[in-house]
Amino acid sequence: MEQEKILARLLQILTRYSQERATGPFVDYLDPEELRQRLDLDSGVRGDWDQLFAWVEKYLTHAVRTSHPAYLNRMWAGANLPSVIGEMVTAVTNTSACTYETAPVSTLMEKYLLRTMLELVGFHNGTGQMTTGSSNANMIAMMAARNNADPAVKQQGLFGRPPLFALVNADAHYSMDRASNILGLGAEHLLKVPVDDHGRMRVDALEQRLAEITAAGGVPFFVAATAGTTVRGSYDLLQPIIALRDQYKFWLHVDGAWGGAVVFSDRLRARFLPHLEQADSFTLDFHKMLGTSLMCNVLLFNQRPDILRQVCSAGDESYIFREGDNGEIRDLGTQSLQCGRRVDSLKWFLDWKFYGREGLAERVEHYLELCAYAEAQVQQAAELEMVVPRESFNVCFRFRPPAPIPAAAFNQELRERMHRTGRSLVGTGFVNGELVLRLLITNINVDKSEIDTFFRAVIETGRELLAERSGLDHPRTR
Ligand SMILES: *Cc1c(COP(=O)(O)O)cnc(C)c1O
Repeated sequence: MEQEKILARLLQILTRYSQERATGPFVDYLDPEELRQRLDLDSGVRGDWDQLFAWVEKYLTHAVRTSHPAYLNRMWAGANLPSVIGEMVTAVTNTSACTYETAPVSTLMEKYLLRTMLELVGFHNGTGQMTTGSSNANMIAMMAARNNADPAVKQQGLFGRPPLFALVNADAHYSMDRASNILGLGAEHLLKVPVDDHGRMRVDALEQRLAEITAAGGVPFFVAATAGTTVRGSYDLLQPIIALRDQYKFWLHVDGAWGGAVVFSDRLRARFLPHLEQADSFTLDFHKMLGTSLMCNVLLFNQRPDILRQVCSAGDESYIFREGDNGEIRDLGTQSLQCGRRVDSLKWFLDWKFYGREGLAERVEHYLELCAYAEAQVQQAAELEMVVPRESFNVCFRFRPPAPIPAAAFNQELRERMHRTGRSLVGTGFVNGELVLRLLITNINVDKSEIDTFFRAVIETGRELLAERSGLDHPRTR
């Protein structure tokens, strides 16, 4: 009885939170020290539900409202309601998706997801798994490529083996650097291939590196193409890389954490990701553009149905895993690097059933239209400029302060001011050494009018900063 009352109370709080979260500022900003005092983390007594709910209220009051239309900061925002329902059910039922016997429904849903996505991407006789995100997926893909290139590595490690080299777009995600560290390659064996004007790997430079490595007795075992680089949104061209693969026999991984979401739309896939079906592996985050609650990812492998088992399985698993009938893998944990695995399949499944492929395709197409609209707004505003033309979804722009004010410091200050005053939170990044404000639209509550509001706020904040600099008496609005 107590439990029911408590859950009802929680639902009431969450309902009120979701009614209020799109109104007012996106965050009640406090400096860290002030927030620490306000939270008073040392206070409280044990076993008191009223106090527990007071903590919940404090958390909600000071949390960043990521569904708020002024939250334009990251590759994700808010979360789809169907997936939130899935997440809550997952929390209440609390199980690990490593064995069929503890997670029968989740196992079948994950297998259904893998079948659905392999077919959609066009991978034949493949396999895959839900991982904790594309950072991990990139690492697992690199590991699979490593062990595929030199099967002795699983037993002997890299000691005394021919040197391996991985090659990535110079703007590839930092998870590639971390993966090469974890996997024992070292930073010097991860080569960053320079990019062209569009932020795509230069194929001539890639070819040159491949030739140099091979001539020196090295093994270029892995090339990762990025489908939507994190800062610029550039898509590496797959076809010329596939042609090089025929010659050099490397593993071609496609990091579609961000821009892989175009696979749901035939039109956008043909434009941004042709030939994806010929890659060796592909990762896609459902928790970014597609709006499933964090974390939700799928990593897919082409043509190699047993690769995950071969690569990941190690050690004595006899206490936990059972052989399925006719060798079928029933326990997904046998092909994972984790033991305990969160159930991520239910929230994906509910999103998939609720929106369908068409709904997700429409969403991604709509985001792209909004990005084109945003770029046009930047071009029309005298105070703003695009730092580089838009490649896909990422709008890399900045406020143009009059000379001699340095643009980077000014835009950094502008961004901080917008954050602290709760007007908006927008991302940043560096393109060709220039600081850019990086507008990302992944929020279903954002439409043209919210984009207009955002740019108005950028321009007002910029003018305000300029007025303060020139010593004019300009009222600071909060
Ligand atoms: C976000 C991102 C990643 C990391 O994905 P996580 O799911 O956050 O680990 C990897 N690659 C690219 C291109 C990304 O944009």
